[in-house]
Amino acid sequence: METVTVLGATGSIGCNTLDVINRHPDKYRVFAITGNTQLPLLMEQANKCSPRYVVIADPKNYDDALQLAKQHNVEAEILCGQQALEDVSSAPEVDAVMAAIVGAAGLLPTMAAVKAGKRVLLANKEALVMSGALFIDAANKSGAQILPIDSEHNAIFQCLPHDYTYGDLAGSGIAKILLTGSGGPFRERALDSFSSITIDEAATHPNWSMGRKITIDSATMMNKGLEFIEVCWLFGVNASDIDVVIHPQSIIHSMVQYVDGSVIAQMGNPDMRTPIAYGLAHPERIDAGVKPLDFKRLADFSFHTPCFERYPNLKLAIDACQNGQCATTSLNAANEVAVAHFLEGQIAFCDIAKVNEATLNALSMVEMTSIQQILEQDALARTKANELIRGKFQC
Ligand code: NAD
Ligand code: MG
Repeated sequence: METVTVLGATGSIGCNTLDVINRHPDKYRVFAITGNTQLPLLMEQANKCSPRYVVIADPKNYDDALQLAKQHNVEAEILCGQQALEDVSSAPEVDAVMAAIVGAAGLLPTMAAVKAGKRVLLANKEALVMSGALFIDAANKSGAQILPIDSEHNAIFQCLPHDYTYGDLAGSGIAKILLTGSGGPFRERALDSFSSITIDEAATHPNWSMGRKITIDSATMMNKGLEFIEVCWLFGVNASDIDVVIHPQSIIHSMVQYVDGSVIAQMGNPDMRTPIAYGLAHPERIDAGVKPLDFKRLADFSFHTPCFERYPNLKLAIDACQNGQCATTSLNAANEVAVAHFLEGQIAFCDIAKVNEATLNALSMVEMTSIQQILEQDALARTKANELIRGKFQC
């Protein structure tokens, strides 16, 4: 029996994780589930999976949560606040932590799991983008195993040789990592009509069903940019080792190209339960409830090079990756602010990249050697992005 904490249980990844866990009651026991809003859903989940703890991120919701817990016959202890999120991530009883809080809010609980040497199922890419070297160093120190849940990184992990040494592509005969992405809903939209993109259009992904923030990031391809940075940290590679390839069908989830000409790809239907099940069961395989890929019914596969004019956020992220930790932390923070304003109808779709670029240009880049400094830089970038939005971009 493995004991699992699911951070961000009410989200898209969290729900999919509980779905996989519920298929294997003989293998997994839930220690804690956490959520921020959607308290009725959180209590329904608690009723079904009987965790020891339910954590509400925002203490303001604690009394409501207690009431709902009673109504749903939840026996778990109800906790709240940042410290509780970290406690259920690092408790000695826990074997694995699904890190599926969205955005920078996931950094501290995920780091708590990493520092406690847990098996960390990493969906929360923003945590790694923000903290890079500190995250990897902490995992090396504690012995935490990081299993990528982002489908592309999970695919790369599966395509690398089992004895891959962190950072040594040449030693494994690898020429390139091919990071695939669908190109989102605006891959073919006329560039001169981008100014009229609506929230609903951007919040609808052609292949994947995901949370709101990552869906907008997929439309701007900031998601691929964050993933580019994530590849560098997860596998210890440089920006020049990665090619981004647009593959609109989202069947190939990424590839590894070897020096002898071989390319190994991981394929499957676009369903996050596959990488989640892989992360939960590694090195074994378990049923994920995912429909098998039917090659007789597959349409053609196609591949393109991304155009930076269409996806300026992708270019910003690749540049930030080369400019270092302060740039990626600042870009991630600016982007969270810009996407939130777009989703509230306060800035236009094209302004997201403009806010991100202007924020990066306005900040001085400093060296960061502690989580405290990272959080300060994150706050600084958020303040700057908010100021820029108020001053220039507000619709
Ligand atoms: P979501 O918006 O559906 O869910 C987010 C979860 O985080 C919810 O449980 C929410 O309550 C919680 N949360 C939000 N703000 C919080 C806060 N301030 N404090 C504590 N908890 C908070 O998001 P998602 O689509 O499930 O994505 C989760 C993470 O996984 C993101 O980092 C995303 O980039 C990554 N990811 C998602 C997918 C996907 O298919 N959805 C794929 C790859 C990677
Ligand atoms: Mg992904």
